[in-house]
Amino acid sequence: MGQLSLRAVTKSFDKAEVIKPTNLDINEGEFVVFVGPSGCGKSTMLRMIAGLEEITSGEIVIDDKVVNNLAPVKRGISMVFQSYALYPHMSVYENIAFPLRVARTPQADVDRLVSRAADVLKLNERLKHKPGELSGGQRQRVAIGRAIVREPKVFLFDEPLSNLDAALRAEMRVELKRLHGQLKNTMIYVTHDQIEAMTMADKIVVLRDGVIEQCGSPLELYHKPQNKFVAGFIGNPN
Ligand code: ADP
Ligand code: MG
Repeated sequence: MGQLSLRAVTKSFDKAEVIKPTNLDINEGEFVVFVGPSGCGKSTMLRMIAGLEEITSGEIVIDDKVVNNLAPVKRGISMVFQSYALYPHMSVYENIAFPLRVARTPQADVDRLVSRAADVLKLNERLKHKPGELSGGQRQRVAIGRAIVREPKVFLFDEPLSNLDAALRAEMRVELKRLHGQLKNTMIYVTHDQIEAMTMADKIVVLRDGVIEQCGSPLELYHKPQNKFVAGFIGNPN
């Protein structure tokens, strides 16, 4: 579960085609990182996959099913944004449980699912606290907890660490990799940070102006960048 394909997907806003016809296959359980300069279409790509943005043409296929017309909640996908809002008046428990409340999940299942997410994220001791009583890293983990609590097949992360300081980013990178190792979901992670891309990815997708310039393992891209742009971004220019 969690195999994802883009088939000739495009996106236009007014007359501007910001995603050119794009094909991409992502395997079940893969950790894929999208990199590219600001404005190249990374967020648009994630939002289309999540169903938060309609595609202009093409097909998005998840586990052999075309999901173009499927509502976001029906896609088995959840997304963590760069700026995440926790509810300040609610406990950590209720913040994580929120998507389950919306889905009217029975209380016994809520307890079980929240406690599993809290386990993975090492938040068990903090469930009764309010977000204001937590560190930045813990708050970020609560946001991730909320995304994983429904145990989706695919997680999308849109620059989730860019508001954190360098030390915390490094720590969260390790945590996210550990999380991936435990949950084994498909993850697509957007960043403009090449170190994040190199250290976290099974597969890197380099985007420029709505076009995939290259897609491959970190080592492939480093040693055999297809052009100067990729080399400049992650490759070894020599
Ligand atoms: P990235 O996340 O890589 O910085 P985005 O996906 O946010 O890039 O944006 C890609 C392009 O699409 C940019 O040129 C941006 O201005 C444009 N764009 C994104 N969202 C909209 C929108 N809702 N309306 C019009 N243009 C948009
Ligand atoms: Mg973006």
